[in-house]
Amino acid sequence: MSETPLLDVLVVGGGIAGLWILDRLLAAGFDTALIERRALGAGQSIAAQGIIHGGTKYAIEASGARTASSVTGMPRHWRDLMAGRAEPSLAAATQSAERHLLVTGGIGMEIAARLVTANSRRLAQRDWPPVLAAAPGSSRVIALDEPVMNVGSVLAALAATHATRIRRAEAVALEQTKEAIGVTLRGPRGRPGQVGARLVVVAAGAGTAPLATGARQQARPLHMVMARNAPADLHAHWISGRGRPRLTLTTHSMDFDRIWYCGGDLAERGVGLHPDQLILRAREELERALGPAATSALRFATYRIDRIEGAARGGRRPDGPVLQALGRTLAVWPTKLALAPVAAAKTLSWVREQIAPRQGERMVLADWPRADIASPPWAEVERWS
Ligand SMILES: Cc1cc2nc3c(=O)[nH]c(=O)nc-3n(C[C@H](O)[C@H](O)[C@H](O)COP(=O)(O)OP(=O)(O)OC[C@H]3O[C@@H](n4cnc5c(N)ncnc54)[C@H](O)[C@@H]3O)c2cc1C
Repeated sequence: MSETPLLDVLVVGGGIAGLWILDRLLAAGFDTALIERRALGAGQSIAAQGIIHGGTKYAIEASGARTASSVTGMPRHWRDLMAGRAEPSLAAATQSAERHLLVTGGIGMEIAARLVTANSRRLAQRDWPPVLAAAPGSSRVIALDEPVMNVGSVLAALAATHATRIRRAEAVALEQTKEAIGVTLRGPRGRPGQVGARLVVVAAGAGTAPLATGARQQARPLHMVMARNAPADLHAHWISGRGRPRLTLTTHSMDFDRIWYCGGDLAERGVGLHPDQLILRAREELERALGPAATSALRFATYRIDRIEGAARGGRRPDGPVLQALGRTLAVWPTKLALAPVAAAKTLSWVREQIAPRQGERMVLADWPRADIASPPWAEVERWS
């Protein structure tokens, strides 16, 4: 280990958290590199709907009241990043929508009325997107101050800034000594390797607990629905009478096609269903929300993925990023894409408490291959039905 080159910090995992952390550590002068085993964002990040929540969705779920507080302010912060008023600059990233809509039928109206706050406003019917105006199931539409990001473009913007610091390799084992950590690497085609770092930050999503001994995480399984041939751009939550987001829909582009990507209760409750059953349910749900004219040409596929969070008592959703320090290793879960800036700021504070940056530029993994940006789930579908 003493002969292997030593980084200040090695970041394991190139999702939104790892890329953000890399940026903040480099900006603070730490000699840092990131390794990604597949492609950047290949876990949850590229599968995210990209909504920069400001807390409204959680304010309507009784159990989510605490989550609401940690995300408040994120929409404004992300807008500052896109405008280059804050760092890291996301000027090269794109948003899919400036705001997200909340749609209720008659039964959820009381809840909706409570949600009209400084950060949201009720839309007059003439301002509704045409696809909603023609829909049978909407009686109130509220515009939420929550941008929807094109996640691939965010990952690309972060990665482009630090391309020389990002390499494709899997961390397969960490060995902690008194002064450093030895990391055993496996590259493409099984290439073996070794790198040393004074600290290791593991932001590897599902791969975090398997790598960082003692790290505790929880998984929230989802079965998402994708529909191609979508007739219009739409980014909306539909709220049930019990105040649950029964359907969360975002729109994404694929070549010349438009994809509706559906989560919310549909995806949470669909976990136990066969894809064909879930597609049937999704058809009904979309038809109820938007009517047959908007939904008849849709073709469907489903996608299973787990949301991974740091373990919280009773398995409840953590109210912010979770960081677990394990000696010279820090395990990090942002909990939400929107909270990556908070996760990175907390990680930087922890690193500063442990070490000071050393002088001099090095790039110890220079001869390892670069990592590409992952493809979104809809680009990987083999059969639409
Ligand atoms: C369907 C879905 C929709 C979502 N929608 C939203 C939303 O609209 N808004 C929001 O704020 N949040 C949303 N989220 C949550 C958000 O996506 C996650 O909180 C966030 O992307 C987690 O990022 P991460 O970097 O921690 O993990 P990941 O994105 O999972 O990245 C981890 C990376 O580590 C790599 N890796 C794993 N093990 C190793 C190893 N041993 N060596 C090297 N690399 C390794 C993986 O290949 C992967 O690229 C959604 C999540 C899901 C699943």
